[in-house]
Amino acid sequence: MKVFDATDVVVIGGGAVGCSIAYHLAKEGIDVILFERGNLASGASGRCGGMVVQLYGRELNIDKTRKRLNLTQLNTHRLLELQDKIGDFEYKQIGSFDIAVSEEEWNSLKKLVEIQHKLGDNEIELLDEKQTREIMPIFGDRTVFGSRYRPSDGNLNPFKLTYLLARAAKKHGAVICTNNKIEEIIEDNGKVIGVRSCIGKTKAKWVVNATNAWASQLTKEVEIIPVREIAMITEALPELRSCPFEARFEGEFAYGTTQTKDGNLLIGGPGLPTGEPGNYNYYDEFIRLSETKRCAEYLCGFFPSLRHVNVIRSWAGTMAFTPDGVPFIGPIPNKEGLLVVAGFADGMADAAAVGELITEYITQVKFISIPMEIFDPGRPCPKIEWPHPYVHETLHEFLAKKYNNLELANKRINQI
Ligand SMILES: Cc1cc2nc3c(=O)[nH]c(=O)nc-3n(C[C@H](O)[C@H](O)[C@H](O)COP(=O)(O)OP(=O)(O)OC[C@H]3O[C@@H](n4cnc5c(N)ncnc54)[C@H](O)[C@@H]3O)c2cc1C
Repeated sequence: MKVFDATDVVVIGGGAVGCSIAYHLAKEGIDVILFERGNLASGASGRCGGMVVQLYGRELNIDKTRKRLNLTQLNTHRLLELQDKIGDFEYKQIGSFDIAVSEEEWNSLKKLVEIQHKLGDNEIELLDEKQTREIMPIFGDRTVFGSRYRPSDGNLNPFKLTYLLARAAKKHGAVICTNNKIEEIIEDNGKVIGVRSCIGKTKAKWVVNATNAWASQLTKEVEIIPVREIAMITEALPELRSCPFEARFEGEFAYGTTQTKDGNLLIGGPGLPTGEPGNYNYYDEFIRLSETKRCAEYLCGFFPSLRHVNVIRSWAGTMAFTPDGVPFIGPIPNKEGLLVVAGFADGMADAAAVGELITEYITQVKFISIPMEIFDPGRPCPKIEWPHPYVHETLHEFLAKKYNNLELANKRINQI
């Protein structure tokens, strides 16, 4: 039999998540073939800032927050262990900030930290302006009221993470097949039996759709909302003591990540789609000069002393969102053998743990380590008419207004 004819598990998608799944499966002695339509890390994983932020955003949904943290905390442990096992992907736990640049934001951060402490998230700290500047002095004259700070967050090199996972998967016997797009997941009587690509059919007992922003193209049962993001990197600079952070700049959301190992500073933000009303393209990976300038404005807005620094590269990429903002991880109901692992807007905080959890599911036909119900792809998801054109933050705010307002959060927290 030829190598691509049959296997135990087909993983579709060669980003950090797909490679993590292939690695964990192969390590358990399970036959796995990973198919990637381009090169490894050619999707969001190779365009990402590498921030590892365990609880991103200003989410007020109590249950979601608690369960989400279970997964991302597991991921943090696993990243530390992985670095010893597969090689150095420059993972550093240097902390992360959520910065308040207005009094209104400061008041909302105080409330959020109070809620998180009540939920047992004792690591999260509320820092005043002085404490924030002590950790991150490059804020300079910028108005900063204070911040939410998580010391165990950090960042990593997403290319290295993805390629090292793939290399380790291969060492354990996985087959990695790049430049091979999966055209169809083949079914027979409600059971998934394999995939079809230009090289023919590959039979499999399990198929894992790990294509993130593209997942709905192969699995119509899940609604994935693609989100365009932009990013930019500077020339190498001396050490700046800058941590990953999220903040608003002139009302717009921006995120930054600390320096790479070589000293380059990376910053990014929301990218609007290209195209016309009614025909927006959220998958456009080309960046316009105006967007690079916007990124540069974010950077200089937060760190005015860096105005003289040269930008060496900028890019756009597509990540994913789901109708309730929580990734899909698990089996598709009534489709025996099909798992979907997609909908990641901040996948570096999930990838390592997800590989292990999917392997657990495939070997035991259930999740054991942590509660996974909120990630169930079969959960009822609201049908939402999204406001177009949207950016990542628009989606979060839209959901928050609908489902996660302060009044509801206060009610729920009093019941705990
Ligand atoms: C500009 C930018 C900045 C970001 N910054 C951060 C950050 O700082 N921290 C963070 O945690 N997250 C960040 N993200 C999000 C993060 O990159 C994603 O959440 C993460 O990479 C998802 O990994 P993945 O493997 O699921 O998806 P991807 O890396 O997108 O992998 C999916 C793969 O599937 C392949 N594929 C699609 N269709 C098919 C098919 N039919 N057949 C075969 N292969 C197929 C694609 O080519 C792709 O390589 C950022 C994203 C962008 C775009």
